[in-house]
Amino acid sequence: MKISTTMIEQVYIYAREIYNNNIEVDQAVKLLVNDYKWAEGSARGYINVYNNIRNGEKYTWTINGNATDYYLKNIYKDDGYNALQIALKSVKLHIDYQENIQTINNIIEIYEKFKNVVNIDKDIQTVFAEIDEYIKNIEPERRDVEYNKLIRNDTHIVRWLKEQFNNRCQFPNCTAKIMTKSGEYYVEVAHITPVAEGGMSTLNNLLVLCPNHHKEFDLGFRNIIKRDNEHIEGELNDQYFNIRFHENI
Ligand SMILES: [Zn+2]
Repeated sequence: MKISTTMIEQVYIYAREIYNNNIEVDQAVKLLVNDYKWAEGSARGYINVYNNIRNGEKYTWTINGNATDYYLKNIYKDDGYNALQIALKSVKLHIDYQENIQTINNIIEIYEKFKNVVNIDKDIQTVFAEIDEYIKNIEPERRDVEYNKLIRNDTHIVRWLKEQFNNRCQFPNCTAKIMTKSGEYYVEVAHITPVAEGGMSTLNNLLVLCPNHHKEFDLGFRNIIKRDNEHIEGELNDQYFNIRFHENI
């Protein structure tokens, strides 16, 4: 059976809704069969594979290359860096399972393509922890500069941070966006408890700020009213702010 792009788009939508507990499998299968000409068995197979992929599990049913590409692209778009990282683990398990079969060459190519987007070996927290370890051995007054240099050189981290913060300075109502020659936006990362004072790169200690707000945050009059794992609330040179640390987690 030829599976068209429209069919893939539709099975993706339903599989994601099932994964998020918004629709029952049987109901989705019925709609796919009636409205989009899916064969029932294939529809169930594609839905199951989506579920396996989201959970980082091995799947043994082969979905075609177009669908694999579409699933990965949209998992990244809809559910972000961490979801893509998990999805790629699943695709790798599938490839290993199928190792000798020529027909999945295109799946291997797709896997290699997405492997450049996220770091599949380490989660972001591990990468940050390694940077923190390295920074500890640098003289305190150079730590902030070194830190930002390291982060900017790690495309995975930059990509992840931008995704979390939508390419914008997190300070309320700041519209500063600096486009670099490479076409990427420039970001700076501020530590709330400074690196020089032992502040770590945990999610609740990081802010993405434009250069102006970064300097103001470091040098201005800062009064923290409340800080927990999700928010920081306070005043910076008399301007009130309430910032959520991470939007997508
Ligand atoms: Zn700003």
